[in-house]
Amino acid sequence: MDANQLNFSAGPGALPATVLEQVQEAVRAAPGAGLSILGISHRSPWFADVVAEVETRVRRLLGLPERYHVLLLQGGATQQFSMLPMLLLRGHQTPADYLLTGYWSGKSVPEARREGRVRLLWDGSPECFHRLPDDRELQFAADAAFFHYVSNETVEGLQFQRIPGLDTVPRICDMSSDFLSRPIQAERFQCIYAHAQKNLGPAGVTLVILDDQLLTAKPADPSLPGFLDYREHVRTHSIYNTPPVFAIYVTLLVLRWLEDSIGGLAAMAAINQRKAATLYAALDQYPDVFMGRARVQDRSLMNVVFTMPSPEIEQQFLHEAASAGFSGLGGHRAIGGLRASIYNGLEQAACDRLAAFMTDFAAKRR
Ligand code: PMP
Repeated sequence: MDANQLNFSAGPGALPATVLEQVQEAVRAAPGAGLSILGISHRSPWFADVVAEVETRVRRLLGLPERYHVLLLQGGATQQFSMLPMLLLRGHQTPADYLLTGYWSGKSVPEARREGRVRLLWDGSPECFHRLPDDRELQFAADAAFFHYVSNETVEGLQFQRIPGLDTVPRICDMSSDFLSRPIQAERFQCIYAHAQKNLGPAGVTLVILDDQLLTAKPADPSLPGFLDYREHVRTHSIYNTPPVFAIYVTLLVLRWLEDSIGGLAAMAAINQRKAATLYAALDQYPDVFMGRARVQDRSLMNVVFTMPSPEIEQQFLHEAASAGFSGLGGHRAIGGLRASIYNGLEQAACDRLAAFMTDFAAKRR
C-alpha cells in the first residue's frame, strides 16, 4: 500500500518519493550489486564505492576544501555532543563557549561539561526560547577552546540566518535539522555534524565534516576508545566497524536526488523558502487562532512551531488534521503545541494542502 498520509514529522522525516521507489527496488536487488541492500557486505568494493560517492557529493554540494574529512558515523547527533568535547575540551585550559538556544543545545551542554569547563555565552531559557540572541548580546572570547551552537532548534522552531562567532575560534555546529537545506559557507566551520533522519536519509547514520586542523592541533589521547576517536574513522574511511549499510545507501540516493534532480543547495533553499512562506502566511493570516512561537526574524524554515488558544482547540486541530491525512503535527513532548516539519523531502504541494486546511479550520472559528 502506498503512503496515504502527508508526513510533517520532525524526524525521521519525509523522504522524496523517487528515493523511496529506488529503495524498494534496492531491497530486492541493489543496482550494480545483484544483492538485496539489506544483505550486502560492508567490506565489498560495491559498498566502498557507495561511501566514496557520498563523500564526493557532500564535498561538491558544499564546495568543501580538501582539508576537511567527511565521516559517516553512528550514535546520532547525541554521540557528537560527547565526542567533540572529548577531543577538544578534555585537559584544555580554557572553557568552550556554547549558546543555549533551545532543547537540543540544552542536551549538548551537560555532555560537554563532563569533559571540561563550559561558558554559556547566552541562555535563552528565562525567555522560554522564543528567540535567538542578536550579535550585540554575545561576547565571544578569543581564547575559547571552541564555540558550539545549533543552527536550527528543531523543537522551538528557531533558525540562525547568520553565522555567529569569531572566525579565529574553532566553530562547531549541530546542523542536524537544517543540513543541506540551504547553501552554507562550510569553510567557516571547523566541524559540522548532522544526523541523517531529517534532510538526508533514514536514522542510523550521522554525517560529520571535520577540519583536519582539529585532529592535528593536539597529540592523540591514548585513553579514548577507538570508536570515539575521529582519527580511527578517518583512517578506516568510515568503515571502522560494521556501518549502517542500508542508511548510508539511502543517504546516497537522497544526495543524488538533491544534486541531479533538484539542482543543488541554492535551488533547494528556494523551494524551502517558498514552503515555509506558505505555512507562515497561513499562521499570520489568523493570529487569533495560530500563534507562531518564534520571534519573526528567527523563524525556522524547517520546523514551523505554533500554539492555539487552548489545549482543547489544539487537540481538535490535531484530530481533524489526522483525519484529513496530515501526520506528525503534534509539538515536541517538552513544550507541546503544534509543529509542522517541512524538510527537503516534503513537497510544496503538501504545504499548500496544509495551509488550505489551516485556513479552513481558522475561518470556521470566526
Ligand atoms: N540535535 C538536533 C538539532 C536534533 O533535532 C536532534 C534530534 N531531533 C538531536 C540533536 C539528537 O539527535 P539523535 O537522536 O540522532 O541523537
